[in-house]
Amino acid sequence: MQLIDTHCHPDYFGDQLPAVLQRASEAFVTEMIACGTNPDDWPIHLKDATTYSNLHYTVGIHPTNIDQTWERGLEILETYCTKTPKPVAIGEIGLDYHEITGDTTVIIALQKEVFRQQLLIAKRHNLPVVVHSRNAFEDCITVIEQAKVDWQKIVVHCFSEGPEAIRRLNDRGARGSFTGIITYKSAENVRQALLAQGIERLMLETDSPYLAPVPYRSKQNEPAYVRAIASFSANLLRISEEELSNVTTRNARAFFHL
Ligand SMILES: [Zn+2]
Repeated sequence: MQLIDTHCHPDYFGDQLPAVLQRASEAFVTEMIACGTNPDDWPIHLKDATTYSNLHYTVGIHPTNIDQTWERGLEILETYCTKTPKPVAIGEIGLDYHEITGDTTVIIALQKEVFRQQLLIAKRHNLPVVVHSRNAFEDCITVIEQAKVDWQKIVVHCFSEGPEAIRRLNDRGARGSFTGIITYKSAENVRQALLAQGIERLMLETDSPYLAPVPYRSKQNEPAYVRAIASFSANLLRISEEELSNVTTRNARAFFHL
């Protein structure tokens, strides 16, 4: 059995990373994708991806990390697209309207512009895109549509909308990926979204160190726990864990060109 954690933040683990990777491999999580959120974590991901061949990475400016240096940030971001190892996607990028402090109109306009520019970088380098959307699903669709990015290259990570929303992605050729949220009692609509999309495009992620799945909710999340998300999903879809791991691994390899 083989699983891929398609979205995690291993820079958070610091010198615990070797132990975290060891536990991941014991849980059959053979590969993972470290997701960038700001110019400070990109060099860490690049270094980790150089050290560990089973760790891939992405670069992106998360919508809540936009500051006055964003233009310089985008210049630096684009230089990563020609580095070795190369990022497997641009992300996580998108829109986050959850807790905006300051002038909402100005901040939303800036988030959209930085999102748009990063979509264009992805397009220039033919890279897939990991989208972060929080309370901003409609606007994310609009910005992606306007940037004319190939929808097949779009994954909305940590999908937390319902079945209608995922159908709108799937109809365009895009997909959602799922975290431990699907194991939470209150997340029936997210489980329905997973079922509506089916296994054809399914990819799993921990988003660790956040969002630990049941039964590890009191603990810090880590890539090994993608196993718990996988067995929960297999149950939900009424397929074996073996089949689920085969399909999700194949999907992640194809999507990120691993
Ligand atoms: Zn994340």
